[in-house]
Amino acid sequence: MGIRLLKAGISSFIIFEKSDRVGGTWYDNSYPGAGCDVPSHLYCYSFEPNPNWSRKFSLQLEIQDYLDHCAVKYGLMKHIRFRTEIAGASFDEGQGVWRMRTTTGEELCAHVLVSATGQLNRPHVPKLLGLDCFEGTTFHSARWNHDHDLAGENVAVVGNGASAIQFVPCIARVARKVTIFQRSANYVVPRFDRAYKPWERWIFQNVPLALWLYRATIYWRLEARFFGFFRDSWVGKKLREGALKYLGQWVSDPALAERLTPDYPIGCKRILISDDYYESLVRPNVEVVTEPIAGVARRGIVTEDGISRSFDTIIFATGFETTSFLAPMQIEGLGGRKLAEEWRTGAEAYLGVTLSGYPNLFLLYGPNTNLGHNSIIFMIECQVNYVLQCIQQLMRQGLSYLDVRREAMDQYNQHVQRAIEKTAWAAGCHSWYKTESGKVTNNWSGFTVEYWWKTRQPDFGAYELVPRG
Ligand code: NAP
Repeated sequence: MGIRLLKAGISSFIIFEKSDRVGGTWYDNSYPGAGCDVPSHLYCYSFEPNPNWSRKFSLQLEIQDYLDHCAVKYGLMKHIRFRTEIAGASFDEGQGVWRMRTTTGEELCAHVLVSATGQLNRPHVPKLLGLDCFEGTTFHSARWNHDHDLAGENVAVVGNGASAIQFVPCIARVARKVTIFQRSANYVVPRFDRAYKPWERWIFQNVPLALWLYRATIYWRLEARFFGFFRDSWVGKKLREGALKYLGQWVSDPALAERLTPDYPIGCKRILISDDYYESLVRPNVEVVTEPIAGVARRGIVTEDGISRSFDTIIFATGFETTSFLAPMQIEGLGGRKLAEEWRTGAEAYLGVTLSGYPNLFLLYGPNTNLGHNSIIFMIECQVNYVLQCIQQLMRQGLSYLDVRREAMDQYNQHVQRAIEKTAWAAGCHSWYKTESGKVTNNWSGFTVEYWWKTRQPDFGAYELVPRG
């Protein structure tokens, strides 16, 4: 967003960052083996291709370097205020400005407020009975304790999602024993990761068209995967067969294979992509426990069958608070309406970007814009493009604010929810894409080209445009 603002000649903006460095999720998630399961040549900005990616699926440090590079190259550093957390913001209708408060009590105001806080920012740690009394070490995968050495330890891992499958193979090589507490099984497909050969990198560096074509090929290959996300689709059936075949290749013990076989349609939860997770599960020092956790004792974890296991360390790979979006920020719109209350039954927005009653507030990676099949960078670039055009409209017409009409927003969300009904996400499984009541608030309902089409330019007829008074 910052880069596009600068490119459009708008330099009067500040980026608030609660952390002390850029990178967001790629700064927070530094656990061993952290990397991206979207090919790197697509998981980068369209305007800043990187011919130097070292491998098909880069690890966290390389992605962090790329983001640092972008921030410096495009002159963003002087616009960023690090270690500054916004506690809340309320819209001042008379002045047409957002009044913001930081957590240290500082007050600021701006005509336009853009949120880019992500969907996977606040770690979720389950409230397990007795956890406070555990005498060993505990930490969450997104807050990895790098000062703590797991060598020779008895380690418990709670959760087996995208984060766990990346670090379990790494810690299994050093820990004495790793016990994974799995609540539900996931579909895992191979990643086919490898380092790029020097000649391949040479081509990427010297033949821009080849780089562009390679990126386009990855995009369309991933885009086609969406066919597998329609309920009961033939592609979905093939994907499931492929995933179960892959499981069979690694796990010969029928009892373990059964425990690792999901009981819901493929795609309902995020499909996991890994070359080494199953390999690590068949190591002699790795155990998968599917009995539910009853509670935590002083020295370990007790499962509902009464078995107690001792641990030195418990690692929570239990995901994030995904459905509360802008929380804990307190956002107040026109007439003092409170976003947290309006979103109590599930967050929604117009195109995932604007909210009726919250003028000049724009969300990046907002409700119903997450993907299960393609690169989120593509979606964010669509949103940035949309927001920029709205800001330019505000400036061009000297508007006080623009506010999406309630009917337009409701109609849009009815369409999204109807489309989601036809996808695997709406099938019977628990996932971070849904609220407790089962409403899918996180995922986009279709192909990403469809989203691009809808967001390529704003339909200002859907907005109330209020002139400066
Ligand atoms: P996650 O997918 O939400 O997985 C959380 C895990 O913790 C699940 O296995 C869940 O079980 C389990 N869990 C949660 N509460 C529990 C409890 N009370 N007791 C027992 N188990 C519990 O979180 P994540 O692995 O951190 O990944 C989140 C998302 O981050 C991913 O889906 C992905 O979008 C993103 N991510 C991406 C990459 C990448 O390569 N691009 C890598 C890592 C993460 P249930 O399944 O039963 O709920």
